Amino acid sequence: MEKVPPETKSREAVAIATATERSGEATIGPEHSERGSAANAAGQRPAGVAKLSNPSVIRALLDSLEHRPNKGLGQNYLIDGNILGIIVAAAKIKPDDQLLEIGPGLGALTQVLLAETDKLIAIEKDRTMVSHLRTHFQTLELLETDVLDVNLNELFSGGVNKIVANLPYSVGSRFIVNALEAAPLPEKMIFMIQKEVADRLTAQPGSKTFGPLAIWSQLNYEVKNIKNVSPTCFMPAPKVWSAVVRFEKRAAPLAEVPDYARFKRLVKTVFTQRRKQIGSNLRNNLPEFFQGLEKCGIDPATRPEQIPIEQWAALARS
Ligand code: SAM
Repeated sequence: MEKVPPETKSREAVAIATATERSGEATIGPEHSERGSAANAAGQRPAGVAKLSNPSVIRALLDSLEHRPNKGLGQNYLIDGNILGIIVAAAKIKPDDQLLEIGPGLGALTQVLLAETDKLIAIEKDRTMVSHLRTHFQTLELLETDVLDVNLNELFSGGVNKIVANLPYSVGSRFIVNALEAAPLPEKMIFMIQKEVADRLTAQPGSKTFGPLAIWSQLNYEVKNIKNVSPTCFMPAPKVWSAVVRFEKRAAPLAEVPDYARFKRLVKTVFTQRRKQIGSNLRNNLPEFFQGLEKCGIDPATRPEQIPIEQWAALARS
């Protein structure tokens, strides 16, 4: 565990010590020194480590940093140790894994992840959070940048095989789409996101929420909502429910997609008029795909949301 430098200790650590009841809980670091224990993920920790999911600790830290949660950056901090445990357990961290965390913020999730592994890269945009994290998690490889500007191909080919993140709402689905288009695809991704986005990611053909996000995600991943999360699990509480979603890479994609750009353009364009039957939709917007309908066994009267992923892929190949 890293020691807090004296000048920081005087502001942040004193604030934390005041906020925590036990006098020994005034340092920050991984929750436990032994790696790989499921009990760690559930929130057990030795005396001397301040829990960064504790509301009083968060409040004290924010005060000492003179920082107000930034709505635009989706700064809703997790204050529920059980949810942290669920996220970390879902990642099934192994010694060889290289993890990536997006938006570590004050470090609630980072702290629990670092108790399991030291192979963690984190990306944070907020300068105040970055300086706090650099002070308290000195072993953390931290990139101070916007996650939407990061070259994910470089990170993934450099070894990142699992992503774990309480994603900022403002960039959630855009980041997921970027990750799905980078290579090589990570083995597992665990995201806390808005419940409404989770519903779109996990939707099945025939449901109203089935569309581009479900199609692009489920082509290569089994996507599952593993826990709905109440606004009360965050500080400040957001207006909407969230969910923890697990992406597990399939052994093989659901269907062959040799030209991903063509597949993406087809799906995106058709779903801009999701109520229109696929036949008239294609005739008006993408006539080059119209002939493919018969070949792929798709009735022109079908609505886009009823067409399964395998048929979208076949149509894109036609
Ligand atoms: N991980 C912490 C937790 O679980 O309590 C904080 C999560 S908070 C929902 C989202 C974090 O993402 C914030 O720390 C915010 O500053 C950061 N963030 C927001 N937009 C970002 C972006 N475009 N790139 C990188 N980080 C971003």
